Amino acid sequence: MTAATRPPASAPKQKKGHTGEAANRYVFLFDEHEEVIQTGSPQWDDVLALLGGKGAGLAEMTRIKLPVPPGFTVTTRACLAYLEKNCEFPEGLWQEITEALHKLEAKSGKHFGSPDNPLLVSVRSGAKFSMPGMMDTVLNLGMNDAVAEGLVALTGDERFVFDAYRRLVQMFGTVVQGIEDEAFEDYLTDYKHHRNVQYDVELGAADWRKITDQFLHIYRAIVGKDFPHDPLEQLRLAIEAVFRSWNGKRAVDYRNAANIPHDLGTAVNVQSMVFGNLGQDSGSGVAFTRDPATGEKIMFGDYLMNAQGEDVVAGIRTPVKIAGLASQRPDLYKQFANITNILENHYHDMQDVEFTIENGKLWMLQTRNGKRTARAAIRIAVEMVNEGMITKDLAVKRVTPQQVVQLLHPQFDPADKEKAVKSNLMVATGVNASPGAAVGVAAFDADLAEQWGKSGRDVIMVRPETKPDDVHGMLAAKGILTSRGGATSHAAVVARQFGVPCVCGAEALEIDTKLRQLKVGGRVIREGDVISIDGSAGEVFVGQIKRVEPDFDKETYLQTLLTWADEFRRLNVYANADYPKDAIRARAYGAHGIGLCRTEHMFFQEERLPIVQAMILAEPNSKEEQAELDKLLDFQRDDFYGIFKAMDGLPVIIRLIDPPLHEFMPDHEQLALKAAGLRILADRPAELARTEALLKAVGSLREFNPMLGLRGTRLGLIRPAITRMQVRAIFEAACRVQGEGGTVYPEIMVAVTAHANEVKRMREIIVPIAEETIKQTGCPVDYKIGTMIELPRAAITADEMAKYAEFFSFGTNDLTQTTFGISRDDAEGKFLLDYVESGLLPENPFQVIDEDSVGYLINVATQKGRSVRPELEVGICGEHGGEPRSIDFCHRAGLNYVSCSPFRIPIARLAAAQAALKHDKKPVSQ
Ligand code: PEP
Ligand code: MG
Repeated sequence: MTAATRPPASAPKQKKGHTGEAANRYVFLFDEHEEVIQTGSPQWDDVLALLGGKGAGLAEMTRIKLPVPPGFTVTTRACLAYLEKNCEFPEGLWQEITEALHKLEAKSGKHFGSPDNPLLVSVRSGAKFSMPGMMDTVLNLGMNDAVAEGLVALTGDERFVFDAYRRLVQMFGTVVQGIEDEAFEDYLTDYKHHRNVQYDVELGAADWRKITDQFLHIYRAIVGKDFPHDPLEQLRLAIEAVFRSWNGKRAVDYRNAANIPHDLGTAVNVQSMVFGNLGQDSGSGVAFTRDPATGEKIMFGDYLMNAQGEDVVAGIRTPVKIAGLASQRPDLYKQFANITNILENHYHDMQDVEFTIENGKLWMLQTRNGKRTARAAIRIAVEMVNEGMITKDLAVKRVTPQQVVQLLHPQFDPADKEKAVKSNLMVATGVNASPGAAVGVAAFDADLAEQWGKSGRDVIMVRPETKPDDVHGMLAAKGILTSRGGATSHAAVVARQFGVPCVCGAEALEIDTKLRQLKVGGRVIREGDVISIDGSAGEVFVGQIKRVEPDFDKETYLQTLLTWADEFRRLNVYANADYPKDAIRARAYGAHGIGLCRTEHMFFQEERLPIVQAMILAEPNSKEEQAELDKLLDFQRDDFYGIFKAMDGLPVIIRLIDPPLHEFMPDHEQLALKAAGLRILADRPAELARTEALLKAVGSLREFNPMLGLRGTRLGLIRPAITRMQVRAIFEAACRVQGEGGTVYPEIMVAVTAHANEVKRMREIIVPIAEETIKQTGCPVDYKIGTMIELPRAAITADEMAKYAEFFSFGTNDLTQTTFGISRDDAEGKFLLDYVESGLLPENPFQVIDEDSVGYLINVATQKGRSVRPELEVGICGEHGGEPRSIDFCHRAGLNYVSCSPFRIPIARLAAAQAALKHDKKPVSQ
């Protein structure tokens, strides 16, 4: 969320003792700043909640004397009261609205509904958090037949008047009465076709008169009654429609996707209209004070002369880059640049502004903190610190862990992309609207994109342009491709916010949504065909291009930000890494150690598996078993050596073998089939004997509940020779690195323990081997022995466990499984999703720690463990270790570290810093 959560630097301070009349008001004029303060809500966050982002921005711009057309805001409180009363205005609301309207009339010297000197207004939604295009807007309210004729007489511009009138009928029809936009748009398209023109601007006064007439007919035919000619009725119905749009499907979908609470309501802004479509001395535009894709400090945006704002963002006419205004109207550009500079310094953040030029006069219609890509968010935060505009802690708080995830998205493999370009598979280019590389099947509408996306297919949603109703499909898609619209089009803004790669305005594509295909350069791409898009470069390919991991080394802004994050965090961030190459990557990503090395993963490699199988089949504690273990020792020693080298000077927690042995063996059913076949043929007795022996061995290892079977330490205790081999490999490697001048801190961890005696017995196996190896090599090694806590019994008896364990590592995957009694391997794809979707569970507990149960056990175990051993090191190494909300919990629980996969290290570093800033320190005020 990028909405400002603190007052702008110069916001007035609260006056004490005012909780009277203003606190009950539903409506505030833009210049009634003092009155807003008197509601008892001096904090910027509360002002945003009451007036909505747009209303608060308009009031603030009015207060600092920027040119804003006058207007008033109907508050979110009014919206909530209306929704609460089952869509009825609460008492006094309409009266407040009409009073505010009178004041507006007095300010503008115009009258609402008067043909002689009419006031026209816009009605726009504006919630606390901006939801671009998600709710509804109606422009030009106050127009009717008489007003239109009056305006023609007044302005002499019949074309403009009827264009404005038809827009009102169209918007009012769609927003207030729910008419499908196509009902109007199809007629307009046919009309232009018939008149043989391409753009709206090519139509004249008579055309718009006819179109308005026809729109009024369409309205009457569909709604069953006339378009309301009473302006007050228009106003009332429009405000109600905006209130109701808060609960409309697209707004609800958007809030779900953006994690915005559903109980905030929206404000409604009623503002006198200014017109950008009054001729070539008028225009409209949208701009960001920095590039929202890259973060670079340049003015970024689009504008169009002789156009209303919606023409710029809807993607119907391709707009001009804002830099063009500098040459076209240097005077206006200078004024505009000056205003945006004031705004950025005022809000200490990149602003997203809308403006209109009416007959050469510049008006500001909106300012808000601009949505941006992850890359831009990070660069802007870092550069603003360097510019002295914000402090480091604010920069760290402002970037979300999700943005770090997005930045580290895979990119196309340059070689594979090059090959595709040479093979003429690059079929179009467009605007690089939202970065990242996406591959998927083309889907030509939002519903299908959602359906395919939910069923697990990777989808690229392809549309001529997108609308707010398409958001559910856009969110389910891996990428978005449009043939119309620029970097500020709906598709671009939404894609950037949610980190979906997007190419828009790829004009070479002839998209036919009816035939469900697109044509480009003689090729036809049909629904379901695979395409690839590069949202960073704006390129479109047919077929699939390989993707590669991003290059963290090149992300210098992110590295700077994470170095600042490290200054604030209290949790150490370790990596789950099983091989030397993972350890090297983890260190490069900033890991401060390894929190989990799953040694059994080292057994799965092709050349090792037959040895492991032979070892399993050998009689426990036999010579044959030892012979196979000796072979494995060499492999394991080399792996550990590589890991210790990579993590020189940092702790490495190595977990002794965990999974059930049958996982290393061939499949029982396949073996049984093979044995049956051999028995029938009866021509290979030796092979049959071998297969039957194997089948018997595999059969003897079968368990009904392997996850609750011979796992973890149970195996290490039953077959101590395996434990001894692993410990020897660890210490031989450690001593070797120490001998070479390195520093190692091995920590030996046993898994799936339930009783302190298990840890005690394992210690008795581990310590002699460790000491013996250290003695033999003469290289002292500082080591620890600890246990995972993965079973409720272990957590509950943690004081006993801590007598023998120098550290605890919560294996929250198993701890969640055993606490909920839900199989982690079976449930997630099945009933668990239904549980979450239907609200039976608030979250998937395998993703976010369930604080009431698993969190409770972690707290209890930590306290009990430290009561026996105050210096006990405690961490977590389940999947939750890289999940921001779980990291926040670990911080509060007083853990020492979180451990996660190397790719999630940057996210964990940021999340750990944010937890510390949230819970430990008061925010540094700006
Ligand atoms: C755990 O259970 O959380 C854990 C890290 O161990 P594994 O996933 O290997 O069972
Ligand atoms: Mg486990």
